[in-house]
Amino acid sequence: MHFSTLSKYYEKLEATSKRLELIDILSKLFKQAKSDEIGKICYLIQGRVAPFFEPIEMGMAENIVAVAIARAFNKEKEHVIKLYRKLGNMGIAAEELSRNHESRIRNQELTISQVFNELLKIAKFSGEGTVEKKVSALSGLLKKLDPISAKHVVNIPLGTLRLGIGDATVLDSLSLSKHGDKTLRPVLEDAYNKTSDLGFVAETFFKKGINGIKNIKLTLGKPIRPALAERLPSADEAIKRLGNEFAAEPKFDGFRVQIHLSRAHLRGVPQAQHHLGGGGEEVVQLFSRNLENTTHAFPDIVSGAKKEIKAKSAILEGEAIAYNPQTQEFLPFQETTKRRRKYKIEEMAKKLPLVLFAFDLLYLNGKDITQKPYRQRRKLLESIVSRNGGVIKIAQEKILKSTKEITEFFNEAISEGLEGLMLKKLDSPYIAGGRGFHWIKFKRTQAGQLTDSVDCVLLGVYSGKGKRTEFGVGGLLVGVYDEKKDEFVSISRIGTGLTDEEFRKVNEISKQLRVVHKPARVNSDITPSYWVEPKVVLEIQADEITRSPIHTAGRDREGLGYALRFPRLVKFREADKRAEDATTVEEIKKLYKQQFNHYKK
Ligand code: AMP
Repeated sequence: MHFSTLSKYYEKLEATSKRLELIDILSKLFKQAKSDEIGKICYLIQGRVAPFFEPIEMGMAENIVAVAIARAFNKEKEHVIKLYRKLGNMGIAAEELSRNHESRIRNQELTISQVFNELLKIAKFSGEGTVEKKVSALSGLLKKLDPISAKHVVNIPLGTLRLGIGDATVLDSLSLSKHGDKTLRPVLEDAYNKTSDLGFVAETFFKKGINGIKNIKLTLGKPIRPALAERLPSADEAIKRLGNEFAAEPKFDGFRVQIHLSRAHLRGVPQAQHHLGGGGEEVVQLFSRNLENTTHAFPDIVSGAKKEIKAKSAILEGEAIAYNPQTQEFLPFQETTKRRRKYKIEEMAKKLPLVLFAFDLLYLNGKDITQKPYRQRRKLLESIVSRNGGVIKIAQEKILKSTKEITEFFNEAISEGLEGLMLKKLDSPYIAGGRGFHWIKFKRTQAGQLTDSVDCVLLGVYSGKGKRTEFGVGGLLVGVYDEKKDEFVSISRIGTGLTDEEFRKVNEISKQLRVVHKPARVNSDITPSYWVEPKVVLEIQADEITRSPIHTAGRDREGLGYALRFPRLVKFREADKRAEDATTVEEIKKLYKQQFNHYKK
């Protein structure tokens, strides 16, 4: 397929404000493409040239892209910047310059693969003269493209291609396009949960059909979408779900890490997967809860894993938390989170060492063990983690039977500065990418308040008035995720409860994410001063959940939705949660009901 054809689809996708239309357009696009283009299209429509977990970024700031555009169309950089300021989007600036440019050698009709490979090449340039190499390759590419293609290609390195296409939208579209309806979405989703690689799943589907999809296995180097926990209002209710006997572990308030370890040099071990890099060595890769490759950020965990995990290959999960080995104290989340940084990594690793509390094992010595019961996985985990290691520790576990035991262990965990407990069903498999009652979380509660905070998605922003003019933001519109409809629905407006610093930060974020019309997957009756791409997750504490005719979250036939009363910001979760990981409408409904239980007590 020619890239210019894909660009026409980009135009259509950009123009729609309805999710069903997105699916319809995408499924037509997939139908028209060749099977070996499908994977690349999946990455390109999400503004990428690789799956999310691969640390391949185009890495070009506005300034540099402006130089490339200027060079492509024989203009001064200042001219490009001026035009960009006037039009509000660098891609549109490139489109306009391309239209007016005379000596065109374009209409060479590049294919999708040619453009993709060129962008990938740009992303991979490194070492001396990188900037110049990137500029020259991008300007060369722009010269060969038609104006509409130039517009969209420019938005890829800048990360400003705002089509709002989520993973579930792509999976629905794939099923519709090849099967005529959306019924294959669960099978596709299963494969996606195992690999987190949409392009790979899509291409396998188009080349090998549904049997090929069913054969997709866990793969070292591709993160598995994490299992998630449910909430329940009381220990009694938890016991009903978990059975007579269940496991309980402390809930650590740090960040989740998935470790992929492979030792290719040990005898009898299959060759490490090609994407793990060079053969014959010990390779450790780390992934965050939102599937980013975080290997470089945590050298202490990497070397700890190499020393303290005894296996030929393994995928395990744990929570990393800053820990003071002298006083044996857990540090609060605000300290731990300082380790999520791009610079001065080694220095910070010394200052704030992390300990990883391992709590699950998904893959061992070449075999997927996610289907084994939790009890067995835990035994295997214990058998491979060194007892006296300083970095990788096994999360404490107790096998409990009663409410009284839960309460005691809960209080113990809280007194040690931990967040609460995780209760786990002993015979449950690992459920990748899913929330279920196999894991139940109990967090600290504050009397009279909602028992848990809500992870909301920033949907829009109100411009600042009065004192707030200075911050650019006076209030926020936030929503939650409707999993069934794959939409973001409004739940609250937040005008207070943010510090000046936080208002400024929201302003920074929203400038980056601003879009011209309501995104297709946002469902809201309220219109803020401007919309943003639903991307950033904010943890919000509120006093209560109420029914409300204003908000679309969980709206019923009588027109009543849910709203948060007295909302305030707890923390920004942009580093570890994607928009689709926000609290769901189903969870809001449960939290709403739980309030009444809480008041009854
Ligand atoms: P939440 O983010 O509140 O939904 O809680 C789930 C998160 O708790 C997981 O994603 C983990 O990062 C974290 N966690 C902390 N301790 C544990 C544990 N013992 N088992 C599983 N997850 C844990």
